[in-house]
Amino acid sequence: MSDQLEKIVDVIYQKICAKLKGMGYIEIEASGRHVHLSRKVIDELFGKGYQLTNIRSLSQPGQFVSAERVTLIGPKGQLSNVVVLGPERAHSQIEVSKTDAKILGVNAPIQESGKIQGTSPIEISANGNKVQLNQGVLVAERHIHMSLADAERLALKDGDRVDVEVSSDRPVIFKKVNLRVSDQYDTYMHIDYDEANACNLTNKTFGLIIKK
Ligand SMILES: [Zn+2]
Repeated sequence: MSDQLEKIVDVIYQKICAKLKGMGYIEIEASGRHVHLSRKVIDELFGKGYQLTNIRSLSQPGQFVSAERVTLIGPKGQLSNVVVLGPERAHSQIEVSKTDAKILGVNAPIQESGKIQGTSPIEISANGNKVQLNQGVLVAERHIHMSLADAERLALKDGDRVDVEVSSDRPVIFKKVNLRVSDQYDTYMHIDYDEANACNLTNKTFGLIIKK
């Protein structure tokens, strides 16, 4: 495709996306396994005062993919090359899929991200250093980040539970999706890789809220 044609296709595509969003469709992103680390754990793994290297911004403002990678060590198995997301957080949190949890041999609960009470312990290694965490592993509950403007337009509020139908060649209805509304958010739905594979998620897949 010529550069000019590619640009035209891109403009048309952006317009279609904007139109879909105006109709209440929500773009869906799959979150792969990742960790959020506290200052203390970053110090222990990478060295005192170490700063994470931002290599790519994520859809939510301020969040980024770092260049740093860790290995998760569970009672049954390990997962290496796990991405560290920034910025650092008050509490370390390890987000995996149920499939990952089985590989590691941990009983990770399905919970809202940020709520680490009752989550599983894990050992993390990086850089030849190891840290034992007594909690932090969870399977993030499927959720939608929504801007205030979109929530108002769709008559939704923070904490609502909605059903979302995914339009793909393997259609799925995700029930009771946790809606989180904030002026800090851009509107996107987040699911994990097990859920993404269940609906054969590809780049730029949209879902429609069918029940409030
Ligand atoms: Zn999210």
